[in-house]
Amino acid sequence: MLRIAYVNGRYLPHADAAVHVEDRGYQLGDGVYEVCEVSGGRLVDERRHMARLDRSLRELRIRWPMAPVALGVVVREVVRRNRVVDGLVYLQVTRGVAPRDHAFPAAAVSPALVVTARSIPIASRDARAAKGVAVITLPDNRWARVDIKTIALLPNVLAKQTAHEAGAFEAWFVDGEGFVTEGASTNAWIVTTDGRLVTRPADTGILRGVTRTVLLEVATGEGLRLEERPFSVAEALGAREAFLTSATTAVTPIVRIDGKNVGDGRPGPLAIRLRPALRAAAEIAPAWSSPPSQPNI
Ligand code: PLP
Repeated sequence: MLRIAYVNGRYLPHADAAVHVEDRGYQLGDGVYEVCEVSGGRLVDERRHMARLDRSLRELRIRWPMAPVALGVVVREVVRRNRVVDGLVYLQVTRGVAPRDHAFPAAAVSPALVVTARSIPIASRDARAAKGVAVITLPDNRWARVDIKTIALLPNVLAKQTAHEAGAFEAWFVDGEGFVTEGASTNAWIVTTDGRLVTRPADTGILRGVTRTVLLEVATGEGLRLEERPFSVAEALGAREAFLTSATTAVTPIVRIDGKNVGDGRPGPLAIRLRPALRAAAEIAPAWSSPPSQPNI
């Protein structure tokens, strides 16, 4: 099947889709992005992803590339044209195309928009979650504004590669005080031996994951004991369970940290239970053909 990408106003065959050499995203990492899960052909938690995109754009003083409702139409069209039933849609907004200079270009320069989508079989994701994954820990060497979802991801790229070379799925970043911040592309959670659910507060030290937000609501609704506080690697190793969250991994149990078992080395029961509970709580958008609802921004 021919894959299609949206690039600055045009739907193009994926192989021919390209940005300008002086796109500031390409040259300077001057842009932001979102990744939204697609389930049954529908966008998952679109409203929250659009709200976070709005925040990222504001923080970097980049304009919306088009009205939010129009962006919703483009995103749906890319999902539809790529016949994605289960997978993800990626959208990226950069400050636009201008002669290379660190300072912002003239106000007349329009932001640049790219949207792509691809299928990811549910079965492979579920199989990974059923087995559980390994993580390694690394010093957090990122900038101080990781709460903004920027496309400048070099520390995350290097951390993920180190994890893969160590046979692990994810790298957990650890701050100067020995506390886990988050994964290279996921948020981090533990369940203490007395059953409290712990995750780091969403200050500027982590990205406020949409999945994290929904899961906090689920946990609150279920009356789970919840603590938004930092936890150390040692506490995670002594925990009953650990897991990670993101739009594409949902709740995925962690069974090893730095080669040592978490709990009995098998996926924890709370993580296993929260995985479908998360899905049940997600906002699922209307199908392909329906227009997007006005995002709440
Ligand atoms: N933390 C980082 C650094 C990420 O890159 C991501 C997702 O890409 C997340 C957390 C999880 O965010 P979400 O649940 O919105 O996918």
